[in-house]
Amino acid sequence: MNQLRLDPLSGRWVVVSPGRFDRPSAFVVRHEPVQQDTSRPCPFCPGNEEATPPALETYGPTGAWLVRVVPNLYPAFEGDEPFVVANRGPVFTQASAGGIHEVLVLSPDHDATWAMISDEQTRLVMAALRDRLEEHAQRPNLRYSQAIVNSGREAGASIEHPHGQLLGMSFVPRELAEEHARFARFAGSCLLCTTVEAEEGAGHRLIYADDRAIVVCPFWSAVPYEMLVIPRRHHAHLYRSPTADLVSVGRALKETLGRLAEVIGDVAYNIVFHSAPYRINEPYHWHVHVWPKATTVAGFEMGTGVAINVVAPEIAAQQLREAPLPHADALRGPREVATGTIRGS
Ligand SMILES: [Zn+2]
Ligand SMILES: [Zn+2]
Ligand SMILES: [Zn+2]
Repeated sequence: MNQLRLDPLSGRWVVVSPGRFDRPSAFVVRHEPVQQDTSRPCPFCPGNEEATPPALETYGPTGAWLVRVVPNLYPAFEGDEPFVVANRGPVFTQASAGGIHEVLVLSPDHDATWAMISDEQTRLVMAALRDRLEEHAQRPNLRYSQAIVNSGREAGASIEHPHGQLLGMSFVPRELAEEHARFARFAGSCLLCTTVEAEEGAGHRLIYADDRAIVVCPFWSAVPYEMLVIPRRHHAHLYRSPTADLVSVGRALKETLGRLAEVIGDVAYNIVFHSAPYRINEPYHWHVHVWPKATTVAGFEMGTGVAINVVAPEIAAQQLREAPLPHADALRGPREVATGTIRGS
């Protein structure tokens, strides 16, 4: 039977409508290869560093790099201008697009994905993310930085080599303003601390848990196999969180993305890191969304903002939990979490 569920982060309703789909094979999941311009070498592969602007930061042993941060050649946001709105007529409001747009090359390996990189590599990626956000937070004209990883052409990746993007903006975008308002309106306690407690209590939407982070297919999942990674420790800002929490979140992503590939194949996906806007502290609890692209957003969703999800999150979570573990090292059970600094070299 269909059911309406409220996403307490976005305030949007979701129709959970599992009637027509009962098996993951019901999806035609195609991970289209990202079209590569074969006349030019991959700009993110080792040896082609001159194809990008000089690196802002590199991580790894001297003489080589394992993670590399470079300015985006075609930035969506650029410059030190603050957010100043100008009215050019009764319905023509504009502002300058000041900010920063950076690329985070996740691995020297052209064919890797987040699910495939080593624990050490995951640690460096999370360290790079933390350091860049910390740097962005110092800039007076930036209000928020959006970190994303698009994997696969359907998810918007234009270069095959695994990479993420960091977009520092001079305003607080709508999704963040909405979430912030929803945290503020949540009575009594923190919305995501409560979610951790409630989902662990329920158990059947939980797909990963260690002593620092959990991953669930949230009750209000808007798309099939949606996942939410929540650090247990309450912190508004990713970049101010303890290193061990970042390491756990990176590893939780790796393991659950591996399971996702086991269950529905090589699906495209978006990873979205949500952290509080700069110079805002409470109430917020940073987290990571994973939105697989197993279905297409169509007219109804676009017209109404109401999602229709054809796979109940309870079913998705069960399949993800039961999927064979993608890596032998994931079989070790609850892990010792590395502590100490992971700042880049
Ligand atoms: Zn490459
Ligand atoms: Zn919290
Ligand atoms: Zn969010």
